[in-house]
Amino acid sequence: MTGPPDSAFAVDESGAQPLVETRGLVKTYELGGETIHAVNDVSLSIERGEYVAIMGASGSGKSTFMNMIGCLDIPSAGQVLIDGIPIESMTSDDMAGLRNSKIGFVFQQFNLLARTSSIDNVAVPLIYAGIDAAERRERAIAKLEEMGLGERLLNTPAKLSGGQQQRVAIARALVTEPLMLLADEPTGALDTQTSMEIMAIFEQLNASGITVIVVTHENEIADHAKRRIEFRDGKVIEDRIVTSRTIAVPMGGAASEVVT
Ligand code: ADP
Ligand code: MG
Repeated sequence: MTGPPDSAFAVDESGAQPLVETRGLVKTYELGGETIHAVNDVSLSIERGEYVAIMGASGSGKSTFMNMIGCLDIPSAGQVLIDGIPIESMTSDDMAGLRNSKIGFVFQQFNLLARTSSIDNVAVPLIYAGIDAAERRERAIAKLEEMGLGERLLNTPAKLSGGQQQRVAIARALVTEPLMLLADEPTGALDTQTSMEIMAIFEQLNASGITVIVVTHENEIADHAKRRIEFRDGKVIEDRIVTSRTIAVPMGGAASEVVT
């Protein structure tokens, strides 16, 4: 990956800048002659190492906001800054590189390639990163093993449970060693027990230093985060540090404990 020293790839290790900052962020859609303010003037900062839940009812703007801070979508107005760098100042190549190497995405429906093995699904971001085939395979296997999927390396998604598919998707999100994980309703298609396993993975990832941002409309999921940001009608109506949260224990255990 090439780029000038002041490009998005020159990560500011001092952490002097917020990892993500939005300033007056707006996204509007024109629909049937009407303007929908999906995100309406949102200004906030997320620091490195945070664990944030983005809450709100369906249609409140959570996914639109997440897609903009993840460089998947372009604002109608306002700014997104990653490590202090406004994304509108980046070339589309810079933005794609940032999205591919610094940000991991997890979605409700897993978004895995059908008829493709776990290894090949997880290796996809490494193709874009220009990593050779042998290293792609090695790194994909290592991530799948970390996710407890060492026995499922060659399975296609159809041969995996929902929880296993989501763990493949998390391995894919992490294989480039990103700074932040953006998860949009990651447990929306999973039962309670499996959801707790996914939350235990997020807990460990955040403990290891990865910034975790989870979109959810469920309180039981949001209760795991250290900060809660609530949207309504495209605006932030609450943003607070959680003083008592649920900690999900690692895989295999259904238990979870509450700490203050
Ligand atoms: P949430 O993720 O909180 O359910 P969204 O961000 O998906 O909410 O949507 C916020 C609002 O923007 C909703 O009113 C939705 O209908 C609208 N919206 C989202 N995406 C589009 C789109 N591509 N075209 C038109 N309207 C959209
Ligand atoms: Mg959504």
